[in-house]
Amino acid sequence: MLIDALKEIVGPKGWISNPDLLEPYLSERRGRIKGHTLIMVSPASTDEVAAVVSECSAAGVGVVPQGGNTGLCGGAIPDDKGDEVLLSLTRMNRIRALDADDYSMIAEAGCVLSDVQQAAEKAGRFFPLSLSAEGSCQIGGNLSTNAGGINVIRYGTARQQVLGLEVVLADGTVWDGLRTVRKDTAGYDLKQLFIGSEGTLGIITAAALRLWPRPGNSATLLAALDTPEAAVDLLGRLHDAVGDSVQAFELMSDRCIRYAQRHVPDVTMPIAGQHKWYVLTEVVVGANPAVLEEAAMTALGEKVVEDAVVAKNQAESDRLWRMRHSISDAQKPEGASLKHDISVPTGRIGEFIRKGNRLVSDLLPGARLVIFGHVGDGNLHYNVSQPAGADAEEFLADGQRATEAIYDLAIELGGSFSAEHGVGIFKKSYLEQYRGGAELRVMRALKSALDPENTLNPGKVI
Ligand SMILES: Cc1cc2nc3c(=O)[nH]c(=O)nc-3n(C[C@H](O)[C@H](O)[C@H](O)COP(=O)(O)OP(=O)(O)OC[C@H]3O[C@@H](n4cnc5c(N)ncnc54)[C@H](O)[C@@H]3O)c2cc1C
Repeated sequence: MLIDALKEIVGPKGWISNPDLLEPYLSERRGRIKGHTLIMVSPASTDEVAAVVSECSAAGVGVVPQGGNTGLCGGAIPDDKGDEVLLSLTRMNRIRALDADDYSMIAEAGCVLSDVQQAAEKAGRFFPLSLSAEGSCQIGGNLSTNAGGINVIRYGTARQQVLGLEVVLADGTVWDGLRTVRKDTAGYDLKQLFIGSEGTLGIITAAALRLWPRPGNSATLLAALDTPEAAVDLLGRLHDAVGDSVQAFELMSDRCIRYAQRHVPDVTMPIAGQHKWYVLTEVVVGANPAVLEEAAMTALGEKVVEDAVVAKNQAESDRLWRMRHSISDAQKPEGASLKHDISVPTGRIGEFIRKGNRLVSDLLPGARLVIFGHVGDGNLHYNVSQPAGADAEEFLADGQRATEAIYDLAIELGGSFSAEHGVGIFKKSYLEQYRGGAELRVMRALKSALDPENTLNPGKVI
């Protein structure tokens, strides 16, 4: 019997079937869906993952991989029928190797992202992937969603941090592609298929990660601005001043700050007065710490920014970043919200926000826009909170039309309806809508070639 075979493979510490203990692994963090499962297994090695997948494949049972369960598209939750196996990577949490001279590390999929960052730091190197969920998301989940975060502007997305992968395929075969070389033109670059495929093509069990030199001395600037266009102008000026040393460049609307101050302890805004927009940027200044302040003063003099402060020390910088990282949590107490993780070419951010705001006020009168994001990459979290006191269910049902209009707008401006969170279950219909034709046909051909029995994360993405 399958369940007995799975228990045997992972041993007594490697499975849970008690519904109370399973609860946190079966709900998506916004409570939008709840799943059921036959059993959750937590293999401790690649061989155990391979044996679990092989048994499930032979029994015709689907396997849903799960990392830190911080994903925002429902991709890590089994369906509600209860006949899938949930496979948690949490016990595969070893750093297998770190070679500082090679600027590379081999980490198992279940390593928490902040642990990967710290291991690099300890060896005098830098791992740049960074996001608000870094204390609980796992590197396997990050690669499976091709996560973005705050440092993409300088270092690229999760995809750009990968040198090689170890993957368990749908029939239980292990593909060992844990090479760390930068140059390798031997055939197709298979690792790219698995990155961003949200567990539908293979289960990532370990990754060879690229490390970077430590960036050195950096400075943090908070600027107040009147328009998103001014933010794009400021970014250009910073690039002119420091080249590619702009490490992060985040836009936040005034409402984000108000909600963060209202709902999250110890959030303080050092800039006085009313401003519509804020930019928080981290710039590597090296031996010239004044460069950021000088660029800010010039922008102030030319009225590109309305006010600005540079953090005087690490504690001030941490406080500013805390404000940025608290926005997601601060939005929750304001009721139901529609979340749109979109991207457009950076120069069209202002146009997107203007046109999007008009759509929202026409379709959802009284709704409150909570707009923030990684504007240096053209990626906005264009979120819409329900009107104060409105009925949450009604708002979400009415919101469908607004969501479609917002996605249509992003596409019309040359962007994407899914910038960094993935597709999972929530955005599956939009993949069909916006990536139909040849693109979707190729995706389906890849899925049926690699997973003909539809064992891996069935029903997700495509
Ligand atoms: C407060 C907050 C802030 C966030 N900020 C950002 C941000 O700035 N940028 C960003 O990109 N995302 C962000 N996210 C979303 C989320 O953190 C990322 O998508 C993250 O990469 C998911 O990692 P995880 O380990 O939690 O994966 P999970 O949620 O467990 O899984 C995500 C998907 O990957 C699959 N999967 C997980 N592990 C594996 C594996 N080893 N092999 C194959 N498939 C696997 C799952 O089946 C699922 O489809 C944020 C989330 C929160 C809650």
